[in-house]
Amino acid sequence: MSTLCERYRDVMERIARAARAAGRAPESVRLVAVSKTVAADAIRELAALGPVILGENRVQEAAEKIPALAAGGAFTWHLVGHLQGNKARRAVELFAMIHSVDSVALLHRLETCCRETGRTLPVLIEVNVAGEAAKSGCRPEALPALVEAAGELAHVRVEGLMAVPPFLDDPEAVRPYFRELRRLRDAWAGRCRGAARLEELSMGMTNDFEAAIAEGATYVRVGTAIFGPRNG
Ligand SMILES: *Cc1c(COP(=O)(O)O)cnc(C)c1O
Repeated sequence: MSTLCERYRDVMERIARAARAAGRAPESVRLVAVSKTVAADAIRELAALGPVILGENRVQEAAEKIPALAAGGAFTWHLVGHLQGNKARRAVELFAMIHSVDSVALLHRLETCCRETGRTLPVLIEVNVAGEAAKSGCRPEALPALVEAAGELAHVRVEGLMAVPPFLDDPEAVRPYFRELRRLRDAWAGRCRGAARLEELSMGMTNDFEAAIAEGATYVRVGTAIFGPRNG
């Protein structure tokens, strides 16, 4: 049976291989190890690897884990799940980066929280590329308003786009959604003002991260391939 560190290294190798196959430098893709539902004690093992980015999808769960692991290793925490406005302040306290900003109201809320604490917060705009009713993320039509609003902010720095496309067994079937996210980034990158820019693409999970890298992912968010299947 492979250990957590071995599975992490295996994913890193697959990332490097996929990057090279796409003519890209392996360092141009960063791994976010999605540790949602995984207990702090289990995560601690990864400290042996050196700096690791961990992804959580719930503020409440992260609020318990992050302090428990604060002294345990070089962990950086990213929020990858939907964020409600009333949890924005807590999220600003806990996370180094938020991948899932999906409204102008949330951008403004985060800006207020960051101004009060004097910190700068890198964020990504989550786009609902497939227009799925049950999913968070802004509709592609709403992206111009977010890019416009991002140009006005002094503390929240929009750095790119994120997507959670439909889950499909065949990663090749997910590719058109990755391509669409990249197209949106390329289309709007030139319209950014202020500190905002659209460079990063957070896309690709356990089942499809290699296809996402082929389409330009700069962050992949991988849970199951590292931590094993989640219950529930
Ligand atoms: C759970 C989750 C992931 C990781 O999914 P796996 O299929 O386990 O790799 C990535 N992104 C988000 C937003 C998630 O909620």
